[in-house]
Amino acid sequence: MASGRITLKNDADVAGIREAAAVVERALATAASLIEPGVDTLRLDQAAEEIIRDAGGRPAFKGYRMGGDTSPFPGSLCISVNDVVVHGFPSEEPLREGDIVSVDCGVELGGYFGDFAYTFAVGEIAPETQELLDATRDSLYEGISQAYAGNRVGDIGHAVQTYCEARGYGIVRDLVGHGVGKNLHEPPNVPNIGRKGVGKKLKAGLTICIEPMINGGTGDVTVDGDGWTVRTADGAPSAHFEHMVLVQRGQPEILSSYDKIEAALATVRGDTPVSADTVAL
Ligand code: MG
Ligand code: MG
Repeated sequence: MASGRITLKNDADVAGIREAAAVVERALATAASLIEPGVDTLRLDQAAEEIIRDAGGRPAFKGYRMGGDTSPFPGSLCISVNDVVVHGFPSEEPLREGDIVSVDCGVELGGYFGDFAYTFAVGEIAPETQELLDATRDSLYEGISQAYAGNRVGDIGHAVQTYCEARGYGIVRDLVGHGVGKNLHEPPNVPNIGRKGVGKKLKAGLTICIEPMINGGTGDVTVDGDGWTVRTADGAPSAHFEHMVLVQRGQPEILSSYDKIEAALATVRGDTPVSADTVAL
């Protein structure tokens, strides 16, 4: 997937990546505002594509070729419902109460790429499914906490793996995170499993996508006849959270953001926004 050499980014590169990521954030926030029982996922895809194009960007997944005989990816979003792990096609099938839906978005803007993902609940979901979502998301931050200069790629995977295995979840090993920047996929690969102190050394200026794909059952997956749709082999649900991270000396910086996504979700839920002058007790 990611061949060639590892490139480190300068400040201008990081600014470009951040701008592309900001368009992804808006596209995902728009999808978030539309997700409810009865809506079909093609609708989410169309709304996201409009946001991306209005911002002067290009949907990076649309037309993407995996290689071999696989047809180009048809959507602007990968929309993966329930047992679909990643790379699901947007479709006319309506979402149902209790579903979970992983939405992954890629944008090219001014020669730089943004790529990140969030898994949403559709209406009320089973408590054990919510636990899977929470654990997957938490494992992403466990991985990010290890993404500092001097550490190794295996430290990231080890953090994700130990967190999820301790909770009995299956880690998808067949798909991995990756470098990102002037290409959607750059070296190094960033697996969600690993051993401490093993793998490529992380250097300041490296930009990577960390993206745990975590299953409620085993980590085994199958691919549909379309060559894209990755499903859990046992039919259990799967969650996917992805962030774009800048490796630095010390604290890594997350270049992507869930802020607008979560604001959209709060609005859908009807939460009262906390005003800026609210004093905490
Ligand atoms: Mg990615
Ligand atoms: Mg992605």
